[in-house]
Amino acid sequence: MALFVYKFGGTSVGSVERIKAVAEKVNLARLEGHQIVVVVSAMSGETNRLVDLAMAMQDQPTSREMDVLLATGEQVTISLLTMALHALNCPAFSYTGGQARILTDSSHTKARIVNIDQKRLQQNLDSGAVVVVAGFQGVDEHDNITTLGRGGSDTTAVALAAALKADECCIFTDVDGVYTTDPRVVSNARRLDKITFEEMLEMASLGSKVLQIRSVEFAGKYNVPLRVLSSFTEGQGTLISYEEETVEQALISGIAFNRDEAKLTITGVPDLPGVASKILGPVAEANIEIDMIVQNIAGDDTTDFTFTVHRSEYARALTILENTCAQLGAKSVTGDDKIVKVSLVGVGMRSHAGIASTMFKALADENINIRMISTSEIKISVVVDEKYLELAVRALHDAFELEKP
Ligand code: ADP
Ligand code: ASP
Ligand code: MG
Repeated sequence: MALFVYKFGGTSVGSVERIKAVAEKVNLARLEGHQIVVVVSAMSGETNRLVDLAMAMQDQPTSREMDVLLATGEQVTISLLTMALHALNCPAFSYTGGQARILTDSSHTKARIVNIDQKRLQQNLDSGAVVVVAGFQGVDEHDNITTLGRGGSDTTAVALAAALKADECCIFTDVDGVYTTDPRVVSNARRLDKITFEEMLEMASLGSKVLQIRSVEFAGKYNVPLRVLSSFTEGQGTLISYEEETVEQALISGIAFNRDEAKLTITGVPDLPGVASKILGPVAEANIEIDMIVQNIAGDDTTDFTFTVHRSEYARALTILENTCAQLGAKSVTGDDKIVKVSLVGVGMRSHAGIASTMFKALADENINIRMISTSEIKISVVVDEKYLELAVRALHDAFELEKP
């Protein structure tokens, strides 16, 4: 007998028929003798619909009220799935995040799980029942409802798997595994049988939304075996695990991209010690996360400074930078929110030279101008104009022959 956490995303519970199909799958696993905890998302489109409703009330609703609203999506699916299980004579109980005692910090709309009291859930499982938990939500120490950020049901599933010491956490979704890149952008993308936590974390951080970043962090930290697989077709999916020394690593495991970026540049800044902190300090104080940073020296004792932020923070960052420009006596501020970041990821890169030049040549051959570059041990990212996103991803996928195993 094994204990599994099964997570089903929005598309997988997007209609009455699909919820019934999920119930069948869960019931079959129970009849095989396994203990099953199911985590579900809201029905597809529902969270966006709720966000739109909120925006119709107020320009900037408080994050506390947003959480009260957004958490309702998942409450619908836990009850419907539990009813569907009952209709199959499968004993089951549904729990909201708060009822499941998923305790988080108080950062509304992006809360972090700090503790789970799994006793009640374990009792249900031991009595032979299926436990159905609402993804994406918890409560803080004052019993306020919190949510974990978009895609947060993945993190609920992994956290429950860690707390219950599950044998595996299975993320059922609308693709049959993790691919070399988003299969909706590159049609010959290849499904990976295995990927390391490190690579998956890098892919997720660089924009691959197949798993929420925090779910991968959590799984790595607590060594939870994690698998991504299809809700609709049979198959082994992709196992995310620690690197095995004996297995030879692929040079490049995948290509990630992020459409949510914007870049800002301040030019002609007097080049003195402390300049970087004077430029970025006020941005950080406004709680705006900075991603890539490039500083260039001009010939005349001044420097140019470029950085990227989340696109939703672009307008705010621009205003702050214009103030800084006036204070520092810099020359000008420019910005562009029609850019994207494309990244090549692979632990095998560590021991190989020449990856960057192959990457830059592939982009040059397509006449794609690179606006920024940043590298780490296991990734190379470039910023390009948004209109080249698909072309860039396909060109790189071809150049590194990622369709071949
Ligand atoms: P769910 O609603 O089940 O949580 P998501 O939409 O969050 O599903 O994640 C699944 C989607 O992730 C896929 O439909 C696919 O378009 C996208 N995706 C992005 N990068 C990848 C990748 N490397 N491999 C597989 N899917 C990816
Ligand atoms: N329903 C939430 C969202 O759409 C959480 C999730 O699906 O993981 O982001
Ligand atoms: Mg998701």
